Amino acid sequence: MMRTLLALLSGGLLYAAALAQTPAALTPAPAPTPEQRMIDDIGTHAELMPNLERLCDDIGARLTGSPQLQAAQQWAMTRLRAYGAVDVHLEAYDMGRPWRRGPARAHLLNASGMTLDVVQKGWTEGTAAPVRAEVALLDVKTLDEFRAAAPALKGKIVLVESAPRATPAQRQDPARYFADASRAVRDAQLAGVLLVSSKDDGLRDMWGGPRSLFDRHAAIVTREHANLLKRLLARGIVPRVELELGGHFAARPALAHNVVSDYPGNDGTGEMVVLGAHLDSWDLGAGATDNGSGVVAMLEVLRAWHALGLRPKRSLRIVLFSGEEQGLLGSRAYVAAHRDVLDRIQAVLVQDTGSGRVIGFPDMRNEAWYAALTQAVAPAAALGPLDVMYGPAGGSDFEPFFAAGVPAFPALQDERDYRSHIQHSQVDAIDHVDRAGLVQAAQVLAVVAWGLANGERLPHAAAAN
Ligand SMILES: [Zn+2]
Repeated sequence: MMRTLLALLSGGLLYAAALAQTPAALTPAPAPTPEQRMIDDIGTHAELMPNLERLCDDIGARLTGSPQLQAAQQWAMTRLRAYGAVDVHLEAYDMGRPWRRGPARAHLLNASGMTLDVVQKGWTEGTAAPVRAEVALLDVKTLDEFRAAAPALKGKIVLVESAPRATPAQRQDPARYFADASRAVRDAQLAGVLLVSSKDDGLRDMWGGPRSLFDRHAAIVTREHANLLKRLLARGIVPRVELELGGHFAARPALAHNVVSDYPGNDGTGEMVVLGAHLDSWDLGAGATDNGSGVVAMLEVLRAWHALGLRPKRSLRIVLFSGEEQGLLGSRAYVAAHRDVLDRIQAVLVQDTGSGRVIGFPDMRNEAWYAALTQAVAPAAALGPLDVMYGPAGGSDFEPFFAAGVPAFPALQDERDYRSHIQHSQVDAIDHVDRAGLVQAAQVLAVVAWGLANGERLPHAAAAN
């Protein structure tokens, strides 16, 4: 009964539609553009979430130098090959001594005696035995102020309210400033260091690398527990804390790797568009948004082009970096090792601000790049609002390319709670991935990469170094 009624209804609708047809409607629709085809294909066939689940649920956190990152690299190489990439390989660089996390514990020896929520800061020397000391507040702006405060901090566990920063003059020579600051911290003979999470709600935080101040007996404490220590100090009660940190460096330096792969273009010039994301992550969560989302978005661009048989003029090179979280180690090494091909890089696109929708790209203050990006973004207008914005950007793997004069851009994304909560915390998990946003991000990247791979050559800028 129901079926008959539906058949009658749909028959009637077809008849009405036939009556309404005009000669114009009978001319065949124009063939969809490559851009429309990739948008449709990613919209319906995306493998973003299955890939992210394999990366985060099967492999997990991917600290640079860890077996998990190696497993992730093998997995990514398999996906790249399955999606049509050729010359899929690892490129090694010296990462220094790898670091392994160990147990971290802290508690008050006076006042309430409560346990403090701490995690060892990455790339720091742990404590051989528990350290017991009074807590003192560090609140300075410059290295000179730190040196002046240092005598009172000797033998204390320092709670860092504000650490010394380079002045504009010192920023001219960052290597020298870092050497001076490191020496000053070493000379201060601190018993320990408590840095404060940048997030609320008991969220842990993580940072650190070979060029990060406070590299010994340093932990990151949740903001609530840091506030407890500060309240005690403000009332004249000096907290005494026992701190034990089991993380340590490996005995010997090791090699880390970037995953590099190509999807050849058909113009034979050797020019390429580079899509970059970092496969490494911090290790408190699973690295689902930072930067598993960027990784699977880049894989998705390749999957769609390959599935649709789309062949760009210039090649697409996908590079999955490592060591990003320790200071762009992988992308710096890549640029240093490939000075001879930088000239042939048309542009670099990086996604590294979570899983939210792409809202645009910065022009990096270059008018020619503004024009080229505006053109490349145009076919994705229906996925917008999308803007090319006047301005600089920093903070991920496009930076070393940009510093070498290569047109290199981050996707600007709707970040929502990415920085304030998810990134680097223990809840960087699949639960916090914006699935619709991630699909849109892959669609936008596919369209913009296509435009840049086929469009006019972008001029390079003068190298900054
Ligand atoms: Zn990142």
